[in-house]
Amino acid sequence: MTQKPGLEVFQFPCRSDNYGLLVFDPVSRKAISIDSPEEMPIIGALESQNLELTHILNTHHHYDHVEANKSLKARFGCQIVGAAADRERIPGMDKGVKEGDVIGFCGHDIHILETSGHTLGHISYWIPDSNLLFTGDTLFSMGCGRLFEGNAEMMWQSLQKIRALPQKTQVYCAHEYTLSNGEFALEIEPGNQALQSRMEQVRELRRNRLPTLPVSLQLELETNPFLRLDSAEIQKNIAMEGAALSEVFSRIRQLKDRF
Ligand code: ZN
Ligand code: FE
Repeated sequence: MTQKPGLEVFQFPCRSDNYGLLVFDPVSRKAISIDSPEEMPIIGALESQNLELTHILNTHHHYDHVEANKSLKARFGCQIVGAAADRERIPGMDKGVKEGDVIGFCGHDIHILETSGHTLGHISYWIPDSNLLFTGDTLFSMGCGRLFEGNAEMMWQSLQKIRALPQKTQVYCAHEYTLSNGEFALEIEPGNQALQSRMEQVRELRRNRLPTLPVSLQLELETNPFLRLDSAEIQKNIAMEGAALSEVFSRIRQLKDRF
């Protein structure tokens, strides 16, 4: 049996700090757009990479993730997938999915993880055979999404699902928030050497206007305070030694909101 080549990703800037993401099969050149932040950059990316858009997979209903759903569907006839729970809020949705569902794309399995917290019904897309994870506004590099609709307990459950995936997974997030997230992370865990060296790289990348993403889940586990609630240094610095992790999460989220 010959092994299929993995799916590949083309990442490009959209709006002020979003990323457009095209996941494609290098053989057939069929492509998925993860969310649809902005029409023209997505069309430009499809053309420059010689890709055919067949699907949009939405992570959640916020406008900076669904804005081009209808225009891209009208132009390319692509199928739009989103959380079944968000059918009323995601424009042009054809197929509703939920936790545990698997979508096939060019012989690859895309797993749906429900990752509520930022919104109710937020989902992430995991492609194990290609080591890819698309976390929308749930996980950012060294940070996580704000709690607009869900609560801290919900977001912590979602992050625990992500934490359990293989460490070699490459994480793609919807926004370039890494630098400011990392500055906050350093405030509460200044002694973390992996964090210090990641921040050196991040500063250099941003100075050159280069993306800090994707990032391996392994590096996130070493540097992201929201995945490191059990760090003794973090707990000590926020005066929550030995507290329940969902409470530690809640406290760090509050501190970050005010940072
Ligand atoms: Zn959002
Ligand atoms: Fe967003």
